[in-house]
Amino acid sequence: MTDVVDAPAAVKPINHWIAGASYAGQSGRTGPVFNPAAGEQSGAVDFASVEEVDKAVQTAKQAFPAWRALSLARRAELFFAIRELVHDQRDEIAKILTREHGKVLSDATGEVTRGLEVIEFCCGLPHLLKGGMSEQASTGVDVYSIRQPLGVVAGITPFNFPVMVPMWMWAPALATGNTFVLKPSEKDPSASVFTAQLLKEAGVPDGVFNVVHGDKVAVDAILEHPDIAAVSFVGSTPIAKYVYETATANGKRCQALGGAKNHMVVLPDADIAMAADAAVSAAYGSAGERCMAVSMVVAVGDVADPLIDAIKERIPNVKVGDGMDSSSEMGPLITREHRDKVASYIGADDGAKVVVDGRDGAPDEGFFLAPTLLDDLQPGMKAYDDEIFGPVLGVTRVSTYDEAVRMINENQYGNGTAIFTRDGGVARQFQFEVQAGMVGINVPIPVPVAYYSFGGWKASLFGDRHIYGPEGIDFYTRSKVVTSRWPDPATSKVDLGFPQTR
Ligand code: NAD
Repeated sequence: MTDVVDAPAAVKPINHWIAGASYAGQSGRTGPVFNPAAGEQSGAVDFASVEEVDKAVQTAKQAFPAWRALSLARRAELFFAIRELVHDQRDEIAKILTREHGKVLSDATGEVTRGLEVIEFCCGLPHLLKGGMSEQASTGVDVYSIRQPLGVVAGITPFNFPVMVPMWMWAPALATGNTFVLKPSEKDPSASVFTAQLLKEAGVPDGVFNVVHGDKVAVDAILEHPDIAAVSFVGSTPIAKYVYETATANGKRCQALGGAKNHMVVLPDADIAMAADAAVSAAYGSAGERCMAVSMVVAVGDVADPLIDAIKERIPNVKVGDGMDSSSEMGPLITREHRDKVASYIGADDGAKVVVDGRDGAPDEGFFLAPTLLDDLQPGMKAYDDEIFGPVLGVTRVSTYDEAVRMINENQYGNGTAIFTRDGGVARQFQFEVQAGMVGINVPIPVPVAYYSFGGWKASLFGDRHIYGPEGIDFYTRSKVVTSRWPDPATSKVDLGFPQTR
């Protein structure tokens, strides 16, 4: 029998997208992109120089006047075309996500669908940009407010939602008349280039949407660029803080969403099976690489033992494997280094119990770690304090509801949280007093629908506006108030007094 030797997988170059066309980077610097399920490099992404970022910004700047002058009707029409193309191509986009990120195809399709909701919201842009008017504010005087775009705006995005998080930014930014420079994660950049191609196909003029890849060099070039008016960032907390401080010091508007440690409180009256299903789904979906993943279960009173048993019972049924295999439910982590870092939390804290060790039973090839369950975590332990960002679910045991809420409120993060209970009164009290930006009541991952806005509190958000939805429209526009009168010139006279209503 003849041996079949596989040719080494081709390493695909991944280029920038500037002025409506692919642009091969000239910096001489690239980064590796992997297929995490195979553990092999699949691509090499260009890293932009300061000059290349400037080229993209200048292109966006040139495209701005015509784009902002386009009628709302025509811009809305383009958004409907974008919506159709993204919808038609959702399976293709999902494959791109799975190949580079590793999440399973069904999850990747879900990501595209949630991003599409934001595009659909933006199809209503004529309504979203309506101002307000007060007729006869003073005698013969009308006052009205309008919202206008900022100019060139930029987005810097994380690896974990390579297509949805950019959509949270570019869709409202473009809908409101800005032009855009996207710096996606260098770990899974292909979806952004595919998006750029779709926007071009939909009829978005060249230069309105640009993609520059890269690392800190590209990010700093964006943060310091005098022609960029605003920066949206989503990523880890230390970088979010840095981006916010640097962007605002350079006179830019900035919203910088950071990391999370999302607690799910389970009260003694909760349905145990339902709470266990929710905890397993929300902790291990996308291998825990979601900023809204449940990473801590707070078990109140005597719910802990039966709940942990129910979670433990479900873990072996989670099928870990290549995301391209339709039977897989959980894929690999993004890189080998990240997988190893996540695994290093297992057994690292004295006093914490390893109930299920995900280092056992994970596929050998690729960057896999199977679902892991840790019990008896406490604040002060590394596995409690850090955002692990992997398939590691911690349990902490408390005696009362008040202790559970105090624990959440004292945590540095305040992204999402959830409570599982049958008691409406306690759920309402939780909603009232918990310090987090997004709250689920018997809903483990309360990502707001597109007509609300997404954002956390405390170290999960730097800036004062949440992303997408009404606050997204607000972020990408500034208001102008016009005071107008059409008097008879015959009544005109000089009056140095301060204008007063009459
Ligand atoms: P990251 O902070 O490492 O990277 C995010 C972006 O910042 C990337 O584009 C990256 O190239 C850039 N970057 C990285 N290091 C930088 C540096 N030193 N200087 C300048 N730029 C730098 O985050 P990640 O690992 O890609 O994504 C995971 C993190 O994102 C997690 O902390 C997760 O909670 C967070 N996240 C938050 C939300 C949210 O809505 N709050 C959503 C998704 C992800």
